[in-house]
Amino acid sequence: MAKSSVDDTHVEIPCPQCAYNNKQTIDWICDHRELACSGCGVVVAVDRGAFRKAIEGVRQRLNEARYRITAR
Ligand SMILES: [Zn+2]
Repeated sequence: MAKSSVDDTHVEIPCPQCAYNNKQTIDWICDHRELACSGCGVVVAVDRGAFRKAIEGVRQRLNEARYRITAR
């Protein structure tokens, strides 16, 4: 898949233990399965299935926005 600026979009990964919102780029999440929480240090398993859906949602919104911009 071609890289795009969408992959630099930050998403928040809330820690299940301390509720700290860890910010990571979509690109980073695609390359990692686990995240060490910046708040408490616990290792959080990243559910990429769920994230992929979220990422697709973001991509789709951006594509729609782009379409609206170029349609005029
Ligand atoms: Zn934490």
